[in-house]
Amino acid sequence: MNNRKAILFSAPSGSGKTTIIREILKRFDCFEFSISATSRPPRQGEQDGVDYYFLSPEEFNRRVQAGDFLEWEEVYAGTCYGTLKSEIDRIWNNGHVIIFDVDVNGGMNIKKYFGTEALALFVMPPSIEVLEMRLRNRGTESEEAISKRLARSAAELKMADRFDVTILNGDLNKAVDETQRVINNYLSR
Ligand code: 5GP
Repeated sequence: MNNRKAILFSAPSGSGKTTIIREILKRFDCFEFSISATSRPPRQGEQDGVDYYFLSPEEFNRRVQAGDFLEWEEVYAGTCYGTLKSEIDRIWNNGHVIIFDVDVNGGMNIKKYFGTEALALFVMPPSIEVLEMRLRNRGTESEEAISKRLARSAAELKMADRFDVTILNGDLNKAVDETQRVINNYLSR
């Protein structure tokens, strides 16, 4: 297998994308997660260098100016997220396939960068109502943050057809099985 491969997952916040990725990581041993940088502070339980590289807004800007990002975005007003170029070398040098977990615009930019070499997956929630319920049940976000995320999600759902494959996440087990099947296809290419 050519290991210089990359799989990217994009979805509106609350689609269950991160849960699917976590399950997929258990089923394959060739993957390594691209750790994004963010200018937001860690949530409870999040660790620097594991969940994200947590940078101050100033440090984030400095790295943007230095050209260190493959892509970056102000995903929510005042909060930036980005993929560091150094992550690609780090993971490929380890002989692993890169897994990206990024927002929809970031996903399209990464797909542009890798072209047909990368597999771009879009995780689709069964409905916007389910998305809202999942965001609320998560209990990590303020009412204002939830509203912001929902407004963004409505626009993001329209971009699903720009990705290679859409995974419908109504039933988690089925979604993970389907994702595994699609990934196996890609890896054997
Ligand atoms: P959260 O704050 O819930 O961890 O993430 C918020 C959003 O930022 C999610 O939609 C996530 O996919 C996106 N995100 C995380 N890392 C990156 C990245 O490196 N680039 C871009 N463009 N978006 C990212």
